[in-house]
Amino acid sequence: MREVTASAVGNGYRAPDRPRSVAIVGGGFGGVGAAVMLRRAGYEDIAVFERGERVGGVWHHNTYPGAACDVPSHLYEFSFAPNPRWSRRYAPQAEIQSYLEQLARRHGVLERIRTSTEVTRASWDQARSRWTLQTSAGSHEADVLITACGQLSVPATPKLPGLEDFEGPAFHTARWRHDVDLAGKRVAVVGTGCSAIQVVPAIQPLVAHLDVYQRSPGWTFPKLDFAYGERAQRVFERFPFLQRLDRAAIFAFMELGAAAMTSQRWLLAPFRAIARGQITKAIDDPELRRKVTPSDELGCKRLMLTDEWYPALARPNVALIAEPIAEVTPTGVRTGDGAEHPAEVLVLATGFKTHGFVAPMEIVGAHGRTLAQEWAQLPRAYLGMSVPDFPNMFLLYGPNTNGGTGSVIYTIEAADRGPAAGGRAVRPGTAHGVERDGVAHRVHQLVRRRARQRPQSVAVAVERIPPPGRARRRRYLRAERRRGELATRRAPARARALALPHEPSDRRRRARGTPNLAVRDRERVVRDRRLD
Ligand SMILES: Cc1cc2nc3c(=O)[nH]c(=O)nc-3n(C[C@H](O)[C@H](O)[C@H](O)COP(=O)(O)OP(=O)(O)OC[C@H]3O[C@@H](n4cnc5c(N)ncnc54)[C@H](O)[C@@H]3O)c2cc1C
Repeated sequence: MREVTASAVGNGYRAPDRPRSVAIVGGGFGGVGAAVMLRRAGYEDIAVFERGERVGGVWHHNTYPGAACDVPSHLYEFSFAPNPRWSRRYAPQAEIQSYLEQLARRHGVLERIRTSTEVTRASWDQARSRWTLQTSAGSHEADVLITACGQLSVPATPKLPGLEDFEGPAFHTARWRHDVDLAGKRVAVVGTGCSAIQVVPAIQPLVAHLDVYQRSPGWTFPKLDFAYGERAQRVFERFPFLQRLDRAAIFAFMELGAAAMTSQRWLLAPFRAIARGQITKAIDDPELRRKVTPSDELGCKRLMLTDEWYPALARPNVALIAEPIAEVTPTGVRTGDGAEHPAEVLVLATGFKTHGFVAPMEIVGAHGRTLAQEWAQLPRAYLGMSVPDFPNMFLLYGPNTNGGTGSVIYTIEAADRGPAAGGRAVRPGTAHGVERDGVAHRVHQLVRRRARQRPQSVAVAVERIPPPGRARRRRYLRAERRRGELATRRAPARARALALPHEPSDRRRRARGTPNLAVRDRERVVRDRRLD
């Protein structure tokens, strides 16, 4: 494989003939995908740091019963690595983890992954124009830093009074205790989100009694999961275009859903009717129906795909408790109405800290400011990927890239093209930063405006990645100003309710003397500083 060096860039710049080195933080789909794509683009000096014991990201950490993807696998995979051998339409956790591991092995990435190694700090050395990483296994230097830390990698534990004093096992779904036998036990599951709707049907037949604590219900949609037989798998293997066709059909359907939640709201009616039908079909009890029917609009929360959730709730050994939790007692849960609900095991299906992005890792940029300081008001990045004053750093699955429908892998693959293309412009021994903050700023203005107009609608523009190649890149930059507003409007509409903090208007910003970021709407290359 050709190794990319600075002189191979062909941009007229005479730089030292040294291969560029890349450090990737995170060994999930983002990190492995980036490493594979970089290797395919000719990069050899790649180190991936993963704090878990194996690659897989969420698919290594989430091993709870029933864990599976909720996007059909033909879209929940990389387009360059189709797997015709998925056992089901929605692959289970172990299969997805093994897909990623095999991919890493096949592309020579596995040996570049340093598992059980956490990156605690990454700082840009302005004088040497390199990133220095502090890890649990020592320090490391690289020309380019890619953060692929995921948005759902840090479990969120609710602040429930008395949780510490619970006598039985209490654990988060992302840290499932396989040593705890649930058979014949009274179990309490806190939460009714994407993990709960998978875990509850899986454990309901085992347990003696199951209390499910709900804060607010979410809309669901039929999953229509089924197993692929040997014959179907062979057909996909023999005729790959059929798999691509299926992928395209799933993508189109998801985009339809996104359009319904954003610009084409008249499309919501059939979605809502199907969602309501799912409730009435599975549940006879009017009180339970009332409890599980959301009062908010479809799309305000992630639409959850399931065939088993409502039938499980309707089982005689399951109780849905919509009263708020007042406290956890040593032997159960007390709700706001004063009722005591005994429990022997407590399962927290309470989601993740989604707004931390790279946290708890600290990243220090060119002017000594940390990313946390930069994002104190509002996390934002150009195309969700690059941040001014953090040169040669690429974020994967960054701010505003999480759609309410569609496959995150698709988004990650689009973003992975960024480092592969952008890395070519990185010259070892120089500082180079892609800093198109103006566009990022306009995207956020638009997102907030949309969010105000339709609370469940947020448009995300991540698919516009600067293309490789000089001429195309120049054309792209020329068109950028014109496209800035337009592209965000045209970008495939993906919906997700984001609570976006208020940001000062242009007028107020001027009054405060802070710069109008729109004037920096251009690629700013920090002056070359040759060292060797
Ligand atoms: C249970 C579950 C089911 C999901 N199902 C779907 C689905 O069906 N469809 C969909 O589109 N999305 C789904 N998602 C979302 C999922 O997050 C993405 O699909 C995708 O896996 C994200 O990959 P990632 O590599 O960006 O992040 P992750 O998979 O979270 O990987 C990030 C990795 O980085 C590591 N890391 C973080 N910080 C550090 C550090 N400082 N040092 C070292 N290592 C670090 C973490 O340990 C983690 O392994 C699901 C998420 C969960 C939790």
